[in-house]
Formats: sequence, structure tokens, C-alpha cells
Amino acid sequence: MRYDVIIVGSGPAGSSTALHLARLNPALARRTLVLERDRHPRHKLCGGACVPDVDVCLANLDLDPRSVPSVEVDWAYLNFRGRGFRMRFARDLSFRVVRRNEFDGWLAEQVRSRDIELQESTRVLRLRRVDDGVEVETNRGTYHARVVVGADGSSSVVRRLMPDETNTAAVARVVELVTPATPPGGSARLAADDAFLDFAWMPRGIQGYVWSFPTSVDGQPSRNWGVYDSCIAPGKRGGSLRPVMAQWMEQNGYRLDDYRLEGHPIRLFDPRAALSAPNVLLVGDAAGVDATFGEGISFALGYGELAGSALVDAFRRDDFSFSGYQRQVLASPLGRTLSRRTLTARIANRFPQALVQRTVWRHLGPVVRWYIKNFLFYWAEPLASPAASNLEPPRRRIETGADGVHAAPNRPRAPSRKRLLQRVGFTGVPSE
Ligand SMILES: Cc1cc2nc3c(=O)[nH]c(=O)nc-3n(C[C@H](O)[C@H](O)[C@H](O)COP(=O)(O)OP(=O)(O)OC[C@H]3O[C@@H](n4cnc5c(N)ncnc54)[C@H](O)[C@@H]3O)c2cc1C
Repeated sequence: MRYDVIIVGSGPAGSSTALHLARLNPALARRTLVLERDRHPRHKLCGGACVPDVDVCLANLDLDPRSVPSVEVDWAYLNFRGRGFRMRFARDLSFRVVRRNEFDGWLAEQVRSRDIELQESTRVLRLRRVDDGVEVETNRGTYHARVVVGADGSSSVVRRLMPDETNTAAVARVVELVTPATPPGGSARLAADDAFLDFAWMPRGIQGYVWSFPTSVDGQPSRNWGVYDSCIAPGKRGGSLRPVMAQWMEQNGYRLDDYRLEGHPIRLFDPRAALSAPNVLLVGDAAGVDATFGEGISFALGYGELAGSALVDAFRRDDFSFSGYQRQVLASPLGRTLSRRTLTARIANRFPQALVQRTVWRHLGPVVRWYIKNFLFYWAEPLASPAASNLEPPRRRIETGADGVHAAPNRPRAPSRKRLLQRVGFTGVPSE
């Protein structure tokens, strides 16, 4: 079977790429096949934290995030041995927490509803570049595509088509489990609506933090616990994550042995690593996401927008080299933010010593919070006209004027980020 585009993987990156294709060029979307190894709603290990950038990305696809069940986090506390600060990313809440089986299943439904073929239970085994595209071998037969998009996550098979010498990206280690909201026979030690990120294990070699987020599993109030170790800086390695998790749980009244601990890698963004090759594009975890916090849902959605534009442009020009894709990603707000997060993680984890960390958290908390807010988040830009922009050539720029956010000249005026966030339930720009 021959297709113009085959997207491997239907997580947020794959579904977003397909939905942006449908928005930009419905005819091309009808000649697109999405291949998914599992069947939705499938299990996906993830804390499910969705910051406001997620909502902007979804609004750009004319999707309302409130269609998916979520838990609203009141405050997010960032802590190092009792020092730290709390943050909200919007006026009345910090972020939302979704269950990924529900979120990804909902996105996959949107893909199907826009006449894009999504074939589940189909695992891509091997890919081979041929003269006029790529041959995709799966457990259910072989397909041919002019272009393959690798949206198949951190252990991407498609990524193997990238040149080896650019495969420099680090891979983070992450473990996670879910418990009831209150510990057995006790009362919760964390406020029910709050999220906690604790960096106390940094001096012991964990290049990241432990977390606890409120969540809801089948309507039951629950908590999601995990350890994120970016492994990005040279130096002491933290050893097994299991004892770290055991200690973190014990501090909060739970016994690790009572729960099932699972692990999954996150491929981190490296500006030097290739994101495309002739006839091949990478998006989401397959390309690389946030090194500072391991946040990837917003970026996966954002990559989809960039890939959608690159695909439409390639078919318009009949040029499938994708030689400009890396440059476009790096120059975009997404690429600039990911580069900053990679740099931040490298620098912060170069100085894990307790004395340095204590000093930073004790004296520079407000500066750290200001830096996080102003440099690491709010990268997603509202599209001028999500539904109608298939009439427009790919990129739209939003320029900030003295009195707010304006569309670039000759483009329809975009709703401001604030108004978009209000539309989807975030009632204001951050106040803290
Ligand atoms: C423990 C953990 C906690 C996290 N917590 C958060 C968080 O709170 N907030 C946040 O923003 N991010 C979080 N992340 C990161 C986030 O989960 C990822 O960045 C995000 O899922 C990336 O989306 P994606 O579509 O690129 O990849 P994925 O979501 O991994 O989707 C890839 C898809 O490809 C399919 N696939 C894989 N291989 C093949 C194949 N060979 N053939 C066909 N299909 C294939 C898979 O079945 C899957 O559906 C977390 C990650 C982990 C591991």
C-alpha cells in the first residue's frame, strides 16, 4: 500500500501532526496513514501534567481541553530541603493533570473524525529508504510512503534513519506509580490539590527531582508519584531510582512494595541532534523534549504544528530533503524554549553540591521562579485562525506590541494568549 505520509505513533506528537495536516491540507491528510503499535485507550506512563502551553496548542487545533477529564492543581511547590517557592501558571490554578490513556485516546478520536486513517495494533519493525521514499515494514505488512514522520516516542524506530554521528541526545530515566490519594491507615501529608517537586536528591546524583501530583483514576482521587533523573550532566550517577522512590513514598506514609513501579525513558532535546533526513521527520519524544522538568506533552503537540507545515511545504515544492526542518525547529519558540531548558538542566546539574543548592534555594528562590516563568514556559503562540488557516502558507508570526499581542501585518488578528487561555478555562495570566 502506498501513502504520501506515514506517521508512526499516535501519542500527542503523532496525532497533532495528523491534525495539523488536516487543518493545512485536507487532501494530503486523506493520503496519510497513522500507524499505532497499541490500541487506544492505551496505557502510557506519564505524570499527565498539562501546563497552559498545552491548552494553547490544543486551541490551535480547535480542540477544547475540557473535553478530557482532568484534575486542577492549585499550587505547585518546588522544594529543596524545606526551602523553595510555590507557583501558579495561571491566575487560579497551576496546571491540569490528565490520564494519558484518556487524553491520547481522545486525540486519536479527533484524528479519525477528520478522515485520517489510523491503524492500531500495528508495530513498525523496520524502515528502509528507497528511491522514492521509505518502505515501512510492520507486523501487518509492508507500506510505502513518500515521507515518514517518527512520532514513536523515546525508543523511536524511525530515529534509526538519522545520521549516527548526530545522535548525541541524552536520555532521561523516569519511574512512576499511582496510589490512592490518602496513605493506608493515615491521612495525607500533602494538600489534596497541590503538586510537589522536590530537588533534595540532587546532591546524591539524581539530576532532577521527585514529584507528587494529584490525579484521578476511574473517578477515584489518587496521587501520581515519580522520580525524574535527566542524566544530562557529567558526574556522579544516582544509581537505582527504586530506593529514591521508596524513601520519597515513605516520607509520605506509603510503602513502595505495595505498588507497581514502572519506568520509561524520555529522550531529551539536543540542538545538535538531527531532527530530519531525506523523506523523514522526527517529532515529540522521538525528536527530544524538555531536559529541565521532563515535560513533553506541550512540546509533542507543538512539534506537530511544525511538522505539519514542513510536510505541506515539501509536497507543494516537491522537495523531500527536509533540509530546513532542523533550522525551523531551532528558530521557533518551541525550539528556543527547548534549547533553553537543555542549557538550564546542564548548568543546574553541574552544581549539585548541597552547599550550592542550599544557597541558591535559600537566597535566589524569587530569581529562579522569575526565570522559570519568563524563560521556560509560555512558548506556545495562538494561531491567527486555527480552523481557516489551511488557506494560508505555513508559518504565521505573532508579534508583541506595546499594548498586547498583535498578528503580523496582512494576517488576520489572533486572539491574545490571555483570551485563548480564558476560552479554555484558564482565567488569566500568571499572578505568582
Ligand atoms: C514517567 C513519565 C512521566 C512524565 N510526566 C510528564 C508530565 O507530567 N507532563 C508532561 O508534559 N510530560 C511528561 N512526560 C513526558 C511525556 O510523556 C512525553 O514527552 C510525551 O508522551 C511525548 O509524546 P509523543 O507523542 O512524542 O510520544 P508517546 O506519547 O510516547 O507516543 C508514542 C506512540 O508511538 C507508539 N509506538 C512506539 N513505537 C512504535 C512502533 N514501533 N510502531 C508503531 N507505533 C509505535 C506508542 O505506542 C505510542 O502510542 C513524562 C514521561 C514519563 C516517562
